[in-house]
Amino acid sequence: MKRYSLFAIAREAARYHQGWEKAWASPEPKKKYDVVIVGAGGHGLATAFYLGKNFGITNVAIVEKGWLGGGNTGRNTTIIRSNYLQDPSAAIYEKARSLYETMSQDLNYNVMFSPRGVMMLAQTEAEIRGYKRTAQANAYQGVATEFIGPERVKELCPIIRIDGPRYPVLGALWQERGGTARHDAVAWGYARACSDMGMDIIQQCEVTGVTREGGKVTGVETTKGHIGCNKLASVVAGNSGHMANMAGFQLPMESVALQALVSEPIKPCMDVVVMANTVHGYMSQSDKGEMVIGGGTDAFNNYTQRGSFHHIEETVRALIETFPMVSRLKMLRQWGGIVDVTGDRSPIISKTPVGNMFINGGWGTGGFKSIPGSGWAMAELVAKGEPGPLAAEFGLDRFTQGRFIDESVAAGVAH
Ligand SMILES: Cc1cc2nc3c(=O)[nH]c(=O)nc-3n(C[C@H](O)[C@H](O)[C@H](O)COP(=O)(O)OP(=O)(O)OC[C@H]3O[C@@H](n4cnc5c(N)ncnc54)[C@H](O)[C@@H]3O)c2cc1C
Repeated sequence: MKRYSLFAIAREAARYHQGWEKAWASPEPKKKYDVVIVGAGGHGLATAFYLGKNFGITNVAIVEKGWLGGGNTGRNTTIIRSNYLQDPSAAIYEKARSLYETMSQDLNYNVMFSPRGVMMLAQTEAEIRGYKRTAQANAYQGVATEFIGPERVKELCPIIRIDGPRYPVLGALWQERGGTARHDAVAWGYARACSDMGMDIIQQCEVTGVTREGGKVTGVETTKGHIGCNKLASVVAGNSGHMANMAGFQLPMESVALQALVSEPIKPCMDVVVMANTVHGYMSQSDKGEMVIGGGTDAFNNYTQRGSFHHIEETVRALIETFPMVSRLKMLRQWGGIVDVTGDRSPIISKTPVGNMFINGGWGTGGFKSIPGSGWAMAELVAKGEPGPLAAEFGLDRFTQGRFIDESVAAGVAH
């Protein structure tokens, strides 16, 4: 595949842009692959990419029921941070954050990583204690964060009201190299690189069954026929429970809608990401000028990609307390995604009861930030059949052994 560069743009401009190649191929499925990955979201595509890059495994199909990046990967608010409390979480999220730093160069695709800084506001005494504890843990984990006071919060984000009547801002956990990236571009960049390595991305192809023999996976039934494989990776976020059912086991996971909205575009007024977990809303400004606003999950299990209406109202009402300027904005659009939530709010990267079938899921409300780290760890698990150090603690067995990686207190809604 031709490299994208300034010279390529100049060359194509001179040719009236007639010479650009398709970014990825759209082949029909072969009869059999070494590895079939179900789900062409960020995690599935990143798994494929690192299978090729780190392990030289390229006889791979990525099977997607819709269009690539059309699941949660193309629906999230793109917050990237690694300021988690527990060691296994900090390790995988920091690995991911560091891979984001060079992703545009590694993929030769501009993913618009913008390390503009992420702050999580402390608006209660309990949050101050919690975030100071996280900052301390992060210091030991090698994750650069600090607890900052309200004056510094105001300096970094002048549109915040720090003396609100119910929940004044008492400080914040600040991660300077956290930020955002363009979500579609992450999926597209990985897809292009995978296609370039000879992998098949098969869109509009739903997996409807998992075939097995002697306790081991042999392939998948799909709407385009049977596809055989030596190894199968399920990377389908909110549909993980269905995939597990097809293979004859159950997962400790629930699917709920999480929603977000954007305002009309306005002039630049905010160059950091702010999360206000007590009032429950978070906001950043996109390059187009829209205020990107995230809310909470529905309180009941469902598979809609909209989210309940009352949540929009609650989120905006909450944000107005901390950002009074929001009251003057018009909402442009709203959408939702099906997030996959586990009891300890930590992901699953694991072998399964079915031989040679692996699962990656449970990233819930916060898995965009982890895409490269998760793909890295999942590729190692699939290639070697055993988890490496990044994935070791995220096995399914932790739920039967009581080894929870509890991020629910640190981040009830993680984003
Ligand atoms: C509104 C919202 C805001 C969010 N904000 C953030 C944020 O700010 N920061 C952050 O880090 N995370 C955030 N997240 C979470 C993040 O988006 C997800 O954790 C992440 O994108 C999951 O990626 P994935 O590749 O696992 O799943 P997906 O992108 O959903 O990909 C899974 C794919 O599997 C496909 N699939 C499912 N079943 C089948 C089948 N049977 N056959 C074939 N294909 C199938 C689906 O069509 C889908 O394309 C947010 C999520 C939402 C919904």
